[in-house]
Amino acid sequence: MKVRIDYDLCMGDGNCAKVCPEVFRYDDDQMLARVTVDEVPAEYEQKVVRAAEECAPGAIVVEQ
Ligand code: SF4
Repeated sequence: MKVRIDYDLCMGDGNCAKVCPEVFRYDDDQMLARVTVDEVPAEYEQKVVRAAEECAPGAIVVEQ
């Protein structure tokens, strides 16, 4: 699984970094979240899906 953030939509609330800090990191300077992995490790896939579901503007794009 791969995941990316659509920065046209991200509103920078940092929720994804709270739900799955192993994959998302909140950048305080830019006030945006970053994806820190190329490929999501299998053990974190469920958390990434949950982060995507909870992302209010739908900015997290999951690619299988
Ligand atoms: S949860 Fe969505 S809107 Fe919030 S920082 Fe993460 S990608 Fe951006």
